[in-house]
Amino acid sequence: MTPGTAAGAPTATPRRLVEVAPGVHVATAVRYTTTSTVLVAADGSCVVVDPAVTPGEVSGLAAAVQSAGRRVHGGFATHPHWDHVLWADALGGSPRWATPACAAVAARERDALVRAAVDDGEHGERPALRTVGRLTPLAGGVLPWSREVVVVPYRAHAPGSAALVVADARTLVAGDVLSDLEVPLLDLDAADPIGDHLVALDALEGAAAVHGVRVVLPGHGHVTDAAGMRRRLAADRDYLEALAAGRAPDDARLADPWVRGEHDRQTAALRDR
Ligand SMILES: [Zn+2]
Repeated sequence: MTPGTAAGAPTATPRRLVEVAPGVHVATAVRYTTTSTVLVAADGSCVVVDPAVTPGEVSGLAAAVQSAGRRVHGGFATHPHWDHVLWADALGGSPRWATPACAAVAARERDALVRAAVDDGEHGERPALRTVGRLTPLAGGVLPWSREVVVVPYRAHAPGSAALVVADARTLVAGDVLSDLEVPLLDLDAADPIGDHLVALDALEGAAAVHGVRVVLPGHGHVTDAAGMRRRLAADRDYLEALAAGRAPDDARLADPWVRGEHDRQTAALRDR
């Protein structure tokens, strides 16, 4: 990051957004291949999902939204991890929705989220830290917006997780599941992390079937199609079943040292329960 590119600074370079489905634009960050999604309605308003990850990238996302002439109608956080609850002043003051459980965790753990953003995300002591984790609980099943976006809550990876289905674009914005790069990363505070994750995969598969989803976007990794989603579901279930059985999973994603480290950490935690 270049010094002086604080979130909200007018000098931010607009990030490249790729339209992966009609009105679904994705920016991919360097760190953790983190995706941020800008959903655009016919009236030009937009909803920004999980803006991430460095201050330069978050403000660059805001610059891209502004240079395209979009009006930010709201935000959405898929789950309460620091790299999914960031914001920039330049994105405006509209509500940033999340499930009630996600919003509650983000409020309760805000100090830790801010610390993680500073330690892991190069955010430093910048004004935008005021906005970390300030989420608005959304009780309903759709975003309050002119475009139909269905909220699909699931219990995996973190408390209060949710995916979004953009109905007319037949697109699933999945949150931190269904990644081509990461094995299932469990919510280790849950009573049954593996069982929950398997149920969540079933729920996402069901929602994808109901809405005829043909584009799937993970929180970390690359966009895929319906066949790719089936492959990732199979790989994730294989991984989880190996973990449940105490076997070493045969999973190509474990070749990545960071993923291997997270795998080792969660297998140790499961063993020690
Ligand atoms: Zn996460």
